[in-house]
Amino acid sequence: MTLRFDDRVAVVTGAGRGLGREYAMLLAARGATVVVNDVGGTLTGDGADAGPASAVVGEIVAAGGQAVASTESVATAEGGQAIIDTALREFGRIDILIHNAGNVRRAPLAQMSYEDFDAVVDVHLRGAFHVVRPAFAEMVEAGYGRIVLTSSIGGLYGNHEVANYAVAKAGVLGLSNVAALEGAASNVISNVVVPAAVTRMAEGIDTSAYPPMGAELVAPAVGWLAHESCSVTGEILVALAGRVARAYIGETRGVYRPSWTIEDVAANLAEIRDTADPLVFPVVPGGHDAHIRHSFGMAAEAVQP
Ligand code: NAD
Repeated sequence: MTLRFDDRVAVVTGAGRGLGREYAMLLAARGATVVVNDVGGTLTGDGADAGPASAVVGEIVAAGGQAVASTESVATAEGGQAIIDTALREFGRIDILIHNAGNVRRAPLAQMSYEDFDAVVDVHLRGAFHVVRPAFAEMVEAGYGRIVLTSSIGGLYGNHEVANYAVAKAGVLGLSNVAALEGAASNVISNVVVPAAVTRMAEGIDTSAYPPMGAELVAPAVGWLAHESCSVTGEILVALAGRVARAYIGETRGVYRPSWTIEDVAANLAEIRDTADPLVFPVVPGGHDAHIRHSFGMAAEAVQP
């Protein structure tokens, strides 16, 4: 069965180019009404240009879809509120929020300026909060919502010269998990995509040996996370170069001792780090509590006669 988005209103940030454009086009082609948000700046996040957002709106409308442009920046609380208000003002609701806007500023860790650190965290991480906060309130009130936040391989594993980006992309995992937990009772679900595609963000990288890696190989995973039938929350989907996978936080079984010395840690290291048979605590209904229960359980088991 074709999965459609008729009567759904979606906000996609950074939808004027690259991956966001692809998400907006896919959702609109499947019946969603889309707020195409994009400030239209440079890769570093400087400047503004209404052109990219209005061009994508033009493409959607020309194909018979419905969309409006928003050129506010996600980097401020007022901008985030204005983006969500565009959906509410124009269409009276918000069902889907995809926070995808992004910029890049590279520098080695020891030389990274606070200006470059803040400029990237402001768009990716604080930007996520600036749009999630107002959208989440509406979604909970309506009893329906689909949130997709954007992390990165750099957020999961780090990368050279992008401390700002890695911090921000790791941070969205925490925000998504809290939205998943607090939204669960109201049918508001939140997940994270870890995408990669050859867009302008690949500028300066030699992609000549890459396999096909277009944004159209990522958009279906995001579309599924944004769909009514999405059956997971508080999870992470990886989508790049034709591979879709789940990334997750796992823990080793661990070692229990009633007391520890530094030497004990060293002596038990192999078992502490043994990733065979890992533990994975689902965020929802309560990964936090399940984690604590498991640790307490090991202690309780050890003291039983
Ligand atoms: P892109 O540069 O092609 O598109 C990003 C868009 O975000 C741009 O059109 C830009 O104008 C917009 N934007 C930037 N700052 C904004 C702001 N303050 N408010 C509103 N819009 C703003 O980049 P892309 O490759 O399509 O990346 C999209 C997302 O995917 C980003 O979050 C990026 O970090 C993430 N990502 C991309 C890759 C990749 O391989 N391309 C890999 C991992 C993660």
